[in-house]
Amino acid sequence: MTIHFPPETSADAPRQLYRDALSGAAVPPPLPDYADLVVGADTLVPLLDGTLRRYINLDNAASTPPLRAVQATVDRFLAYYSSVHRGTGFKSQLATHAYEQARALTLAFVGADPATHVCIFGKNTTEAVNKLARRFPFTPVRPVVLVSDMEHHSNDLPWRAVAQVVRIGLTPDGRLDRADFAAKLAAYADRVALVAISGASNVTGFMNPIHELAAQAHAVGAQILVDCAQLAPHRTIRMGALTAADHLDYITVSAHKMYAPYGTGALIGRTDTFAQGAPDMPGGGTVEIVMTDAVYWADPPDRDEAGSPNTVGAVALAAAIQQLSAIGMDQVAAHEAHLTAYALEQLATMPGIEIYGNPDPRQAASRVGAIPFNLHGLSHFLVAAVLGHEFGIGVRNGCFCAHPYILHLLGIDAAAAEQVRDHILHKNKAAMPGLVRASFGLYNTTADVDALIAALDAIRRGAYHGRYVQDPLSGEYRPQGWAPDFDRYFQF
Ligand code: PMP
Repeated sequence: MTIHFPPETSADAPRQLYRDALSGAAVPPPLPDYADLVVGADTLVPLLDGTLRRYINLDNAASTPPLRAVQATVDRFLAYYSSVHRGTGFKSQLATHAYEQARALTLAFVGADPATHVCIFGKNTTEAVNKLARRFPFTPVRPVVLVSDMEHHSNDLPWRAVAQVVRIGLTPDGRLDRADFAAKLAAYADRVALVAISGASNVTGFMNPIHELAAQAHAVGAQILVDCAQLAPHRTIRMGALTAADHLDYITVSAHKMYAPYGTGALIGRTDTFAQGAPDMPGGGTVEIVMTDAVYWADPPDRDEAGSPNTVGAVALAAAIQQLSAIGMDQVAAHEAHLTAYALEQLATMPGIEIYGNPDPRQAASRVGAIPFNLHGLSHFLVAAVLGHEFGIGVRNGCFCAHPYILHLLGIDAAAAEQVRDHILHKNKAAMPGLVRASFGLYNTTADVDALIAALDAIRRGAYHGRYVQDPLSGEYRPQGWAPDFDRYFQF
């Protein structure tokens, strides 16, 4: 399926690239040239020493830059942008057409059957999980949701609000403990309503065997949600037919992690779930008819998309999906595995580094490309700050919205965790435990990895120049006497 927008009026390189990718005439070039696919791959940023350096983004697990194809498609679409669903004008009808095509493309991308599954657009994964938590048809006899200790808070906290959460433990290196999963599933069997699990961890990159877990969940009459925020940008997803024992009942995706940062995400799930009950957010667009004393809800997905939707975001997501599909998710995975293996090989020989999760380069293809680490004797806050200010490398540090997982990976016991909690509640994050994470996207190159390795090597040897001061409130370090002048680079 293709979104056909009217021809462009002016030609430029990004649009050409998009057309090529769409037509399939030119498969995007091999490894290093993927960098050309994203906006801002050559952006120069200021460093502490007064020079400018090409920014290297190794924080893709948080958000990816837009694909040029996405930007170009959005630009073309904006000329036709108008209200969706109720407008009678040409632009409204085109916009509605594009919005619904984006929905179909999203369903197809994750291997969902439109006869049984529906794509509900929203803001992001967090909103999608919260929606499912509020819309899931819990019954008094099945109040339990199984959640693992490796979840992002967005696939943990929403369940605490609505269900009896039972936690699945982890192996010492941070994988799902399959034996514990089976034991908890057996112990709670006919009381389990749902298994809510990440497809891939945003911290270690570990991928869960989601189809095996799905089959186990279904065998006890439960359903499964897979948080695919970290899986969708890196791997093929196949939700499968409802008749298959290992199908996925619900998944979530965030477009800003899929090279389409225009404010969209999606909850893709069983239509029968969303065809019952009142929407969690009632309002315009969710109804068939409203009387002063009665409301008749619309069918899915409209029932769950209150208010004017983010049409541009949906178009952007669909454009990203087309580009990713044109490259091929296997190719994306292979490229990222190559980068991950290349990085792990070099990090393995670096003195004074601890890598969490699976540091084995030979197994790089079995996980997504997020590498969490610490340099001995150096705060994760400091390492991340120096990478940014002196090397132009963007990473993330801290707990990555997965506090229980980080405590587990760092082997912090309950008593120590309570001490940490007390410090944080007293507004002091100076000694907050955490990690540094480098995470790859399809456009990163081995040169990016080389730059990271060289920077880390310099930092661990103390070969950096700033005098860094920590703000205890945030925990962040800043170089004394210097701050980037953002207004020089961007102003309204
Ligand atoms: N789950 C996982 C595994 C994530 O990595 C993230 C984002 N870091 C989320 C959920 C939440 O995604 P969003 O911020 O797009 O809602």
